[in-house]
Amino acid sequence: MDYVAGVDVGGTHTKIALGERDGGILRQTRIQPNVRGTFTDLAEAVASVLREMQSAAGGTLAAIGIGNPGFTDRRTGVTVGGAPNVPCLHGNSLSRYLGTRWGVPAFADNDGTCAAAGELAWGAGRESSNFLIATLGTGIGGGLVLNGRIVRGARGFAGEVGHFCVQPEGFACVCGGRGCFEQYASATAILRLYQAKRDRRGLSVDRELGAEGVLAAAETGDILALQTVEEAARAIAQVFGTVTNLLNLDACIIGGGLSLAGDLLLRVVREKVADYTLPLFTDGVRVVRAELRNDAGVLGAAALAYTGVSEGKASPLTPTGS
Ligand SMILES: [Zn+2]
Repeated sequence: MDYVAGVDVGGTHTKIALGERDGGILRQTRIQPNVRGTFTDLAEAVASVLREMQSAAGGTLAAIGIGNPGFTDRRTGVTVGGAPNVPCLHGNSLSRYLGTRWGVPAFADNDGTCAAAGELAWGAGRESSNFLIATLGTGIGGGLVLNGRIVRGARGFAGEVGHFCVQPEGFACVCGGRGCFEQYASATAILRLYQAKRDRRGLSVDRELGAEGVLAAAETGDILALQTVEEAARAIAQVFGTVTNLLNLDACIIGGGLSLAGDLLLRVVREKVADYTLPLFTDGVRVVRAELRNDAGVLGAAALAYTGVSEGKASPLTPTGS
């Protein structure tokens, strides 16, 4: 049996799965490699687990897909920036390392682009040929599909909506800009916005409360939490509306950790997206949540491998025999 491997590299956990053509997962595991050690430590930790999984599954590993945080040079798989939580990736290519080791095609892309590939193959994007996915987590990533194909742009960075300016005089961002989308609608931002509103009223905030807690509080009628959700939803709608006006999308998808929270955020974004979209365009665009949920990253990486093989974008690398 042929299958592919998907590897989703994260700052804390790295997920590894063997995925089938229909989106099924043959085997899956999660490891905590030392991402602040050397690149070889990380690569060998992944290779070791992958070897065990393949041995247990039998069959043939046909290709490998890697989802990287930050910006990835798709031609080489090298992480060229934007991955401060996995510093050992910088300047290195896990896809080249594993592809060479196994002698199979290996592909790497930004994790937002992988999310788009996964949703296109097996999730909310099955009904759509033109969509944007914004992954709302610690930061905001994104991926873009047009005419049924993943769009990467000149250097492979297309769809990175996290640093769209939504408020020119707004909060300073880690990127050096000001008023970035990420500062208003990431999990980090939602918690910070809520804390600021509580602070102004002299109210404390539960230290354990995350952005999901803020969304849950809004669902129960907490007025400051509701205002926070409105603020985040307006930023999301602004980005979705702007990109829809530019590209005539048929769907805008909310992915990442916040897509797992209740329906409130989604409902408010749906209400507001018309404020930023030409009326004729609004009718044709669905605002939905990602369907792959906790498996989005690793399934997206597997989808990337299948897409890469079907597009014939890489030839098998030379096996090293191990
Ligand atoms: Zn920024």
